[in-house]
Amino acid sequence: MITNIGSILAEKLEGKEVALRGWMHRTRTSGSMVFAVMRDPTGIMQITVKKDKVDSKSWKDASDSYVESSFTVRGKVAKDERAPGGYEIQASDFTTISRGEPFPIAKDLSEEFLLDVRHLWMRSQKMTNIMKARHHIVNYLREFFEEDGFYEMAPPIITRSGCEGGSTLFEVDYFGEKAYLTQSSQMYAEVFVFSLGKVYVLAPSFRAEKSRTIRHLAEYWHLEPEMAFYDYKMNMDLQESMVKYVVKKMVEEKPDLLKACGREPEDLRATIVKPFERMEYEVAVEEVNGLGGKMEFGQDFGADEEALLTKGAETPLFVTRFPKEIKAFYMKEDPQNPEFVLNNDLLAPVGHGEIIGGSERIWQYDELVARMKEQKLEPKDYQWYLDLRRYGSVPHSGYGLGIERLCKWVLNLEHIRDAIPFPRTINRCYP
Ligand code: ATP
Ligand code: MG
Repeated sequence: MITNIGSILAEKLEGKEVALRGWMHRTRTSGSMVFAVMRDPTGIMQITVKKDKVDSKSWKDASDSYVESSFTVRGKVAKDERAPGGYEIQASDFTTISRGEPFPIAKDLSEEFLLDVRHLWMRSQKMTNIMKARHHIVNYLREFFEEDGFYEMAPPIITRSGCEGGSTLFEVDYFGEKAYLTQSSQMYAEVFVFSLGKVYVLAPSFRAEKSRTIRHLAEYWHLEPEMAFYDYKMNMDLQESMVKYVVKKMVEEKPDLLKACGREPEDLRATIVKPFERMEYEVAVEEVNGLGGKMEFGQDFGADEEALLTKGAETPLFVTRFPKEIKAFYMKEDPQNPEFVLNNDLLAPVGHGEIIGGSERIWQYDELVARMKEQKLEPKDYQWYLDLRRYGSVPHSGYGLGIERLCKWVLNLEHIRDAIPFPRTINRCYP
């Protein structure tokens, strides 16, 4: 019976004859014994091959295997307290599928080298666990929106104009004309507010981030919901329910995977049960300064300021109502206080930083044109976007969540690059 490692561990197939296909995780030969550890997509399993229990071809294959050679093994499942998972396979047959060459990744290699061989490093237990966790996080996000009646829409990736400022645009030669890789799909998501009501886009966004930080990528996956008739408070409520939903699912259904990634599930418990604090920008600036930071009114929070604000925090923190001049042109003015906009950032606990930026959108034509002029934008560059306000517009809100930022926090990763298989940064777009 061909099975996999996860099934052997889950079904406790002790005493049964099984066959497994996988790769050599570790191997050591001692006299007439090979102690191997096989890995497959479901886990790792100790294998012992005794010279006098197998034919000579099996013995040769087993003792000649490199780390990462692929092979099939047949044998009996036996209990072994010392083995990972508590079981081992006592081999009766070992057949190499591809021996390959000596694997270039051994212990203690530099981060740079591991990035050069990222395509092979993806086979490591560390990256395998993170990629599994990322898959579940994205699935739970989709599940959340599905249950709440959202439609998923497909945006274009090549666009005519940016919406987050010119300095981080990647230019593309589009049949001899200038075009750009999208920085955000928000404006396209807004199109569907007027037909489908509640929609989201999950697609890559591109930002030519020129500084090296542990939370900026040049290409990242961006989840952007947009909802008709939501004001900015409903927008925040939705963000909070979404984060709680995903975190609860991970803690309750994937605790072992969280631990394997370096996150203690209990540390996420407060996020599930406690309401997220909501703090106005002006209060947050005072708070930062009270904690030794040096911020002036009208500045945005950098990594250091976000770290001060969320030091020791158990749950994410909303910072709301930023000054108009430091925010994008489409954010709606606060009617009570027109210097400010009805927006929010959501900061993850203990310095993981901003994971969401959201706002109520300007939904009336004249107001949007006026704001564009204030921000020195050309309304003619945004004709189609303005059209949305010319025909039966309605109030609406939305937000953008960085998938890798969310993963970095939930999985407690040191660097955002490990939340994505092939990170694109200022000095790397290989492999
Ligand atoms: P930051 O201030 O951290 O640069 P931002 O204000 O530029 O973020 P937004 O334009 O509001 O971010 O984008 C929405 C979300 O997209 C952010 O909250 C974050 O989760 C994510 N994000 C933005 N830029 C990047 C990036 N370069 N790499 C990865 N994720 C990003
Ligand atoms: Mg930015």
